[in-house]
Amino acid sequence: MEYLKNFIDGAYHAPVSGQYMDNVNPATGEVYSQIPRSGADDLTMAVNAAERAFPLWSRMSVNERSAILLRLAAGIEVRMDEFVMAESRDNGKPEKLAAHVDIPRAVSNFHFFATAIEHFSSESHYMENVGINFTTRRPIGIVGCISPWNLPLYLFSWKIAPALAAGNCVIAKPSEITPYTASLLGNIANEAGMPAGVLNILHGTGPEIGNEMVSHPKIKAISFTGGTATGQHIARIAAPMFKKLSLELGGKNPTIVFPDVDIKQTVKEIFRSSFSNQGQICLCGSRIFVHQDIYEAFKIAFVDWVSSAKVSYPADPNAQIGAVVSKGHMEKILGYIELAKEEGGRVLTGGVRVHLDAPYHDGFYLAPTVIEGLSNSCRTNQEEIFGPVVTIMPFAEESEVLAMANDTKYGLAASVWTKDLNVAHRMADRLEMGIVWVNSWLIRDLRTPFGGMKDSGVGREGGWEALRFFTEPKNIFIKHE
Ligand code: NAD
Repeated sequence: MEYLKNFIDGAYHAPVSGQYMDNVNPATGEVYSQIPRSGADDLTMAVNAAERAFPLWSRMSVNERSAILLRLAAGIEVRMDEFVMAESRDNGKPEKLAAHVDIPRAVSNFHFFATAIEHFSSESHYMENVGINFTTRRPIGIVGCISPWNLPLYLFSWKIAPALAAGNCVIAKPSEITPYTASLLGNIANEAGMPAGVLNILHGTGPEIGNEMVSHPKIKAISFTGGTATGQHIARIAAPMFKKLSLELGGKNPTIVFPDVDIKQTVKEIFRSSFSNQGQICLCGSRIFVHQDIYEAFKIAFVDWVSSAKVSYPADPNAQIGAVVSKGHMEKILGYIELAKEEGGRVLTGGVRVHLDAPYHDGFYLAPTVIEGLSNSCRTNQEEIFGPVVTIMPFAEESEVLAMANDTKYGLAASVWTKDLNVAHRMADRLEMGIVWVNSWLIRDLRTPFGGMKDSGVGREGGWEALRFFTEPKNIFIKHE
């Protein structure tokens, strides 16, 4: 059995308490490694190391910092296969997905911020006959990055790359459900020439080490991605300490299909937006609204496509749906399917656990599920399920679908499918979401602001937004003689 370690001050350390917890392979249901259950003592070591490293790292030339981060990106790239298999084993996702999305994107995140920092600039404001203001943007100090299990290395690197590029020392915690790829980063950081103490990676549970990080007075900013309830908890602790907070939280995203679309093509795209990564992407559309004129035709084609999707073990090159991340999460999703039935929903396809042949018979597989007959206001359509479950509902008017799409506490993302540019513009303008895709889904440009409105979060990641978050602006005014 492999025992993962914390990465502190440039070296791997067992947790001070000596306590570990199980790490399960969702594809088989078996425990395959042990994770440190870190606590306050581990955090003290990490904070001390980060404090020592900060003067060197924050004053290092941008070129040097950039070069180290580029080598880190390259270090992941040369171990692509190892990372792909580790991510898939930890999370249950098809290897194909990890190979095409997760790990290449982690490489891009480091690459992007390593180069973005070289172009990052600050403003000056000249006052005629008075003087000049100029603004500096300096790193904050020690920052905390906490990430979820659905896109483990992808979202972990999305935070630590800009934090490091901006000159901060980082204490980062991957999800305890998927810690493995983050644990590989320590060696790569050392090989890249990153000074000891700049990047520290602690493992363990949210209520234990996560909470310690959020509460620690020397950690000046928290960048968090995860559930809305956890985000609320973190805000309650961090706000009175005046920490900078970036919160990327849950969603209940609408997918809106107008009657002028090519049904066959759109069905394929909406299969992807609904069920990629087993529906465990914060951006997946889980409420599909289809115009009444094409509702029946779309529904038949969609259900046909979804019911023929291959649910299989992650190493199967033909797997379209892998395992969901844990037994607990699988049971939560099945519970929501039961709730949907109680609320009057009809399961058109899926709705059940799938048992594969040995050695995968105890893995956490669910058939992709489509449910109709529900109102937008029911719990199934208001609460985040975060699994391979979507509902489908007809609409008659643009104003009606807009009202339903916005009628949720969340405001993360939407996709709109139409050939009519006027409809697309009107909808995009009026949807209360941080991200709107038209005739597409999850096409990402790393320069764009990423995040949600309402209960989907506070602040934005990506591009300059991330570099601004991880720096402290200071305005300096110099008076003319
Ligand atoms: P989660 O909130 O349970 O956990 C996320 C991280 O926070 C984990 O590392 C966890 O250990 C840690 N954590 C938990 N309790 C904590 C506490 N009290 N203090 C500090 N840290 C704590 O979320 P999850 O189940 O891992 O992920 C799924 C959720 O993440 C979904 O709601 C999904 O929508 C959301 N998500 C959002 C985005 C986005 O960009 N908006 C992206 C991916 C996932």
